[in-house]
Amino acid sequence: MSVVDILLKLLSFRSITPEDDGAFDWIEAYLDEFEAIYYNEAGVKNLFLTKEFGKGAHLCFAGHIDVVPPGEGWESNPFVPMIDEGYIYGRGAQDMKSGVAAFLAALKESSNFQGRLSVLLTSDEEGDALHGTKVMLEHLKSINLLPEYCVVAEPTCEEHFGDAFKVGRRGSINGVITVHGVQGHAAYPEKSKNPIHMIAPILAEIAGVELDSGDAFFAPSRLVITDIRSGFEVTNVTPDVLKLMFNVRNSTKTSGEAIEAFIKDHFAGVDYDLRLMQSAEPFVTRESILVDYLAKSIEEITALKPKSSTAGGTSDARFVAAYGIDVVEFGVKNDRIHSKNERVGIDEVEALYEVFLKVIEAFKIKD
Ligand SMILES: [Zn+2]
Repeated sequence: MSVVDILLKLLSFRSITPEDDGAFDWIEAYLDEFEAIYYNEAGVKNLFLTKEFGKGAHLCFAGHIDVVPPGEGWESNPFVPMIDEGYIYGRGAQDMKSGVAAFLAALKESSNFQGRLSVLLTSDEEGDALHGTKVMLEHLKSINLLPEYCVVAEPTCEEHFGDAFKVGRRGSINGVITVHGVQGHAAYPEKSKNPIHMIAPILAEIAGVELDSGDAFFAPSRLVITDIRSGFEVTNVTPDVLKLMFNVRNSTKTSGEAIEAFIKDHFAGVDYDLRLMQSAEPFVTRESILVDYLAKSIEEITALKPKSSTAGGTSDARFVAAYGIDVVEFGVKNDRIHSKNERVGIDEVEALYEVFLKVIEAFKIKD
């Protein structure tokens, strides 16, 4: 079965979060020489497939089989893959059934590996991700099967296949500031405390500001204001309260405490409350043989020198990194994820499979 055939099969499962629609049964049967370990929670199925070939490194490939709903307006059925002019169309073609197909095919080909090879799959990545990769890793820790190296096959390429992979991700911190004033008549501003006027000069100091200078791996962390609301949609009453919401995609240089101190500095003399929620921690795999092997394999297959990036939103790699596991992300181009008529180049899927084969091979040679 070719990597393209595997992808076509995976695309035919209607695996909208948290359903796998039978995909896991099919994958388990496909990698029948691997031991299957399920860890299910709250209606979410998670599958770990593992095989020990001998003593050596434990290398795991990870991903999600769930997809976001297709939405309206497709030119083909999103769950009946269509091939047209070198592309395969279907929901999940880029995000990320092509990645899953590529590592399944590569693992099927890999005999006489010296260490252990594994697959970690969830059907809860596109949702709140609370019962997916995270709980499977907890389970793997409890049975002493955590991998040392992990490749997450999310789509990472930008303009061309092979131009970028990820060695980390920024974190995400959401903030809500509530400013308290005193309501009044617009004609008597001296008798009220208008929270809109209070924050007007502060806004200029905080909106879009860089909270650190970034480094070789991360862009600077910026404070991005996402919403400001106050008032009664009238012109003769000034409000007593204002709510301001913001988000910071933070590097490892800016913590929640640093943001709290920054706000305190700029809101001196203002009556306010701040609520901060860290929805993801930043992480980075700075130096690892996995990074070297992946970069070298990409270069050999594509003749491109890939850049290592930490851009974009969050992914399940953050849960893997939390265990001190060296983790990288590499997959196909990312230009139609979550949109209609999602598609992937057949040449990309085939090249991704070749890259994963080479990465596995590199571990073998090392041992
Ligand atoms: Zn994804």
